[in-house]
Amino acid sequence: MPSSDYKFQGWLGHDSSAVQGMMQWGEYKPKPWEETDVDIKVTHCGICGSDLHTLRSGWGPTDYPCCVGHEIVGNVVRVGSKAEGGFKVGDRVGVGAQNDSCQGRKGDCEMCTSGLENYCPKGNVGTYNGTYLNGGKSYGGYALYHRSPSHFVFKIPDAIPSAEAAPMLCAGVTTYTPLKHHGAGPGKTVGVIGLGGLGHFAVMWAKALKTDKVVAISRSSAKKEDALKLGADDFIATGEDADWDTKHASTLDIIICTVSSSSMPLMQYLSLLRFDGTFVQLGAPDEGLPTIVQFPLLFKRLKITGSAIGAPSVIMEMLQFAVDQKVKPWVEQISMKNANKAIVDMDAGKPRYRYVLYNE
Ligand code: NAP
Ligand code: ZN
Repeated sequence: MPSSDYKFQGWLGHDSSAVQGMMQWGEYKPKPWEETDVDIKVTHCGICGSDLHTLRSGWGPTDYPCCVGHEIVGNVVRVGSKAEGGFKVGDRVGVGAQNDSCQGRKGDCEMCTSGLENYCPKGNVGTYNGTYLNGGKSYGGYALYHRSPSHFVFKIPDAIPSAEAAPMLCAGVTTYTPLKHHGAGPGKTVGVIGLGGLGHFAVMWAKALKTDKVVAISRSSAKKEDALKLGADDFIATGEDADWDTKHASTLDIIICTVSSSSMPLMQYLSLLRFDGTFVQLGAPDEGLPTIVQFPLLFKRLKITGSAIGAPSVIMEMLQFAVDQKVKPWVEQISMKNANKAIVDMDAGKPRYRYVLYNE
């Protein structure tokens, strides 16, 4: 089917007020077509915390108009003659937060050749608010259609419903990757800070990886019951127990921190780590992280690190892991028509635990 048979339309932010529910429906020009591309008719798109940072220009000026959304599932409507993946029109596929890198473009960078496309220095091109290596601008999945280089398109296993597959493509792989990398599993104790879209996945993955003990760490006890249902063995409400950090000091091997705000008690979080423990920051607050006092790092040989989304090979591994371990995210489906209200509610912390927009 030629691309002229459908129009690229979606919810566009035109300035930072978009995050207050002021996105406007409109048409835009997708990236110039290449024979390595795939066009997808979007059926579902998750709402990620990154969508809010971008709509409000929290990470620096956004290239408006901007259509966010990088947890995309839909059906293939056009396949380039040189596309990877053997996709056929009609296939159910997904796209995560990355849309391009030098991989597939005679890419010879150390990152892409070792399967770490998400760290490609020539361009980890975001699914929205990015510039493709061919110069086009990227637009995300709060839309009817999405065009993506095929290297970043994934077949969705039949066992995973589309609304559940969508959030796996960013929130899922962003948490799965560092848990695997830092050895979550038997013999380890893992803490997960911030029970939102990313955090609820982290609890489920850590449990499915057979981690000895998973501790959910949230500001209040409002999400305690849910956390235990998700698989947490223990729960800390940092805003309700003045002694939480001393009570749980030096008990965790790995911390996954998904907190999206800079107003976090970082030094108290670090005190929960055992000797040689690892703190992985995944959340990306507009204002950055609080000041770090060095002594706990020195005296407990702590490591502070970060992690960015996940590589294509890991996305495929994660999807299969979710099937095998029956990991199912908690999603609330909302019509694409109501995307503006959904982002306002997301900003207010209402999802339990991921909103997924669907096209009617
Ligand atoms: P989310 O669903 O809104 O979850 C964020 C959680 O952070 C909230 O549920 C809340 O948990 C906690 N939180 C928020 N404000 C807080 C505060 N002031 N103090 C302490 N905790 C607070 O968002 P998300 O989609 O999971 O995304 C989380 C962050 O990860 C965002 O910054 C996003 O941009 C980033 N992200 C990074 C990557 C990456 O590659 N590293 C990928 C995707 C997203 P409680 O209610 O339990 O306290
Ligand atoms: Zn995301």
